[in-house]
Amino acid sequence: MALVQVWFMPPTGRPISYSEFKTAVRGSQIAEITIGEQLIRGTYNRDMDGGRNFNTTRIEDPKLLEELDASGVKYTGEFVSRWLPEVLSWIVPLLLLFVLWNFLMRRMGGAEGGVMSFARSKHRTFAEDDVKVSFADVAGVDEAEQELREIVEFLKTPGKYTALGGRIPKGVLLVGPPGTGKTLLARAVAGEAKVPFFSLSGSEFVEMFVGVGAARVRDLFSQAEQKAPCIIFIDELDALGRARTQSPMGSHEEREQTLNQLLAEMDGFDSRKAIIIMAATNRPEVLDPALLRPGRFDRQVLVDKPDINGRVEVLAIHSKRVKLAPNVDLKVVAARTAGFAGADLANLVNEAALLAARRDKPSVEMKDFDEAIDRLIAGLEKKRVMSQKEREIVAYHETGHALVATLIPGMDPVHKISIVQRGFGALGYTMQLPLEDRYLMQRGDLLNQLAVLLGGRTAEELALGEISTGAQNDLLRATDIARAMVTEWGMSDSLGAINYDGQRRNKFLDMQLGPERGAYAEDTARLIDSEIKRIMGEAHGEARRILSDHRDMLELVTRRLLEREVMEGDELRSLMNLPPTTPSPELTPLPETEPTT
Ligand code: ADP
Ligand code: MG
Ligand code: ZN
Repeated sequence: MALVQVWFMPPTGRPISYSEFKTAVRGSQIAEITIGEQLIRGTYNRDMDGGRNFNTTRIEDPKLLEELDASGVKYTGEFVSRWLPEVLSWIVPLLLLFVLWNFLMRRMGGAEGGVMSFARSKHRTFAEDDVKVSFADVAGVDEAEQELREIVEFLKTPGKYTALGGRIPKGVLLVGPPGTGKTLLARAVAGEAKVPFFSLSGSEFVEMFVGVGAARVRDLFSQAEQKAPCIIFIDELDALGRARTQSPMGSHEEREQTLNQLLAEMDGFDSRKAIIIMAATNRPEVLDPALLRPGRFDRQVLVDKPDINGRVEVLAIHSKRVKLAPNVDLKVVAARTAGFAGADLANLVNEAALLAARRDKPSVEMKDFDEAIDRLIAGLEKKRVMSQKEREIVAYHETGHALVATLIPGMDPVHKISIVQRGFGALGYTMQLPLEDRYLMQRGDLLNQLAVLLGGRTAEELALGEISTGAQNDLLRATDIARAMVTEWGMSDSLGAINYDGQRRNKFLDMQLGPERGAYAEDTARLIDSEIKRIMGEAHGEARRILSDHRDMLELVTRRLLEREVMEGDELRSLMNLPPTTPSPELTPLPETEPTT
């Protein structure tokens, strides 16, 4: 506004000082003046100064008018037109807002451009024409691979199957824990069948604006129909296909519309056109039942974590690009990585390679793998040192686990004991390595396992006469087992062979289906509690009996452990005058090596 005034109303005449102006007023040298807001402009008397113009900056001067009257100067006020500054002060911010909004809209619309076109995704192609992945890149999921080979056949020669009146399956749902290679398998199917691969992740369908997701689905299917035979792959289907609910807030409007559109498209397209819709999820239980009915995702393929042979193969695939030292035995690595999914194994190989590189080794050695496994299993080795007393408690505790595990006949041999502190929580661990695969546990096995779990705490009791907080996780796991024995496996005589839990567990996916808790009477609940207590008490007694019988051994092994911090299983057995056991990983398809902390 200041600028506008300067530009549009430039002062005219000679600038003079205010005092000069006052002198001129008193001397009656001035004919007339115009008093503006900031400026006083005027004209001298003709006889005085040839009637020249002047201007001066206005100063707060209450007496001015009296003096002007006294000397008979003609004075007027000045009208300043305000429309321009006024208008500008409105328009400039509005303009700024508009530019900002436009910019944001463009960003949200992504490559789709303009302000109004975000609902369309015309410029987006979902297809990948030449997928390089094949079944050779996937290992350890043989059953899933077998089923998917059939799909590859459908895609390669659709005519062969439809000629006899068969209907090509429309939807295949890959179900399995994260990192087991579901996305990889879907791409491998496209790669094997040499068909275009249309992929989109479930979350991409769910947009801020209602209707955009549905439009994407329509777009995707119309693009795919032109390219049949092909595969449409929807990753993380649960983001989109969650069961529709009656929500009072209507907050899932967009997702439901998208889901409805997907269902409609799946029903709508011509099943003679070889389009196969694949989807992946690790949470099948939240999916809308409508998605799973025949004609939609009626084929479900379980992609499970690999067994030991599978792990060897996955490791082999991922270590192809890594320089391995001759001492690396992938079978041993696989034996130590029970429960690892494909992605974890890929990560493990990479981690081992990085460790070797950090130490400037020419190739990746077994030691690097060992360390990488330890890292992945229990977190990074910590530098913080424990006090001598704490180390002693942990040493007794871990020795307790190890002795009970070694002294009970038929238990999995101890692989390693360590009191090196790791990650958060674990102060030490005892690792057992099973010699054979287990699909079933007998009641005796479970009781023995309870004794091993309680062995740590019992050793503290015996040796130090005091118990610590270190056994919390052991107690938790032991109690879980005891409770399951009573309520799920019918192993308590007084409660009988009844499942009180009321839950259907899917043992592959680690998830619970069905109601929260079984229905049973108050009295039964009390009985269950007392049975759990009895079983735990028995296991505790067993651990105490074993450890008191071998009190000297407990001292000996603990002292050695305090010296060395880490002890291999064979060293422990030689201390105890027992023959060494070498685990033979070839013979063990699915060992569990859960560290006992
Ligand atoms: P998911 O989709 O099941 O979560 P991914 O297919 O994305 O898992 O797997 C991630 C990565 O892990 C893959 O790119 C691959 O490198 C590796 N991987 C996972 N499973 C396997 C497997 N069975 N065989 C080989 N590599 C695998
Ligand atoms: Mg995935
Ligand atoms: Zn423990």
